[in-house]
Amino acid sequence: METNQPLTFGPVNSRRFGISLGIDLSPSHKQCNFDCLYCELEKQKTISIQTNSVPVEQYIVAIKEALIKYPETEVITITANGEPTMYPFLDQLVDQLNIIKGEKKLLILSNASLIWDTNIASILHKIDIVKLSLDCATKECFSKLDRLDSSLDSQKIIDGIIGFSKSYTKELVIEVLFVDTLNNKQSEIEKIYAILKEIHPSRVDIGTIDRPPAYDVKPISYEELNNIAYQFVGLNVTIAHRHKIKLEKSLDIEEILNLLDKRPQTKEDLENLLDEKSLRLFHQLLDNKQVTIRNQAGVEFYGKRKS
Ligand code: SF4
Repeated sequence: METNQPLTFGPVNSRRFGISLGIDLSPSHKQCNFDCLYCELEKQKTISIQTNSVPVEQYIVAIKEALIKYPETEVITITANGEPTMYPFLDQLVDQLNIIKGEKKLLILSNASLIWDTNIASILHKIDIVKLSLDCATKECFSKLDRLDSSLDSQKIIDGIIGFSKSYTKELVIEVLFVDTLNNKQSEIEKIYAILKEIHPSRVDIGTIDRPPAYDVKPISYEELNNIAYQFVGLNVTIAHRHKIKLEKSLDIEEILNLLDKRPQTKEDLENLLDEKSLRLFHQLLDNKQVTIRNQAGVEFYGKRKS
């Protein structure tokens, strides 16, 4: 179906992925197989098949034009008003984008609903960064929070993500969005952690609601997110939250090393948490090579160097 709707958006400067030019695979209206309570789009009955699709050729023309206009683009992000893996011509689109992208990276943001399908998994294998949502570990939580289409099975989705992670060699990022009283119960957090350990992604981004949600649900606090991040031992976790906390006192060298030892911190974490004096000490540690730096899917994590 030809369309006059804009097919690309941005570029936006995303802290986590760099300068990103977006492609919308459902530009005219929402088409999704989830009906998440926290969705930023309007609430809507789920569908299992995308029926309203724009031809690949139209996307390629739009992307080529946008890349000429915005040569600073670092990442081409495949997304949708809904779920991008429902787009029926995704395979051809990804092949063509890989031809024209040059040095830029290709990123997809997906709810992981179709990852168990070997055709979808093999398309995702051709993408440089795959970011999948995983909000729940149990069927009960999935049906209350993500409200899957009846054609989907939550256990198949979890198994599909784990299976995909075993063979995918590029950058896999998992996003967990926490909603108060729904997936922040301790038992659910522990089960999510167990799955994340099996997946062992490059990075885990945790966050909560920060835009008006489709339904009446509430975010969790930054303190709670921070507490969850500390429970996800051995994973590279970033926290997205508008309200950050600053420590009330300056930290000395030992305390900074302890902080980095407990959980690797991002630049953003440290700038939010530490005052100027502590930040100077942190840079001293960095200069003295007492701190390690690891880049995980575009984000640098600082940890304590083990002697
Ligand atoms: S998967 Fe994304 S688009 Fe679909 S309902 Fe959930 S938040 Fe909205």
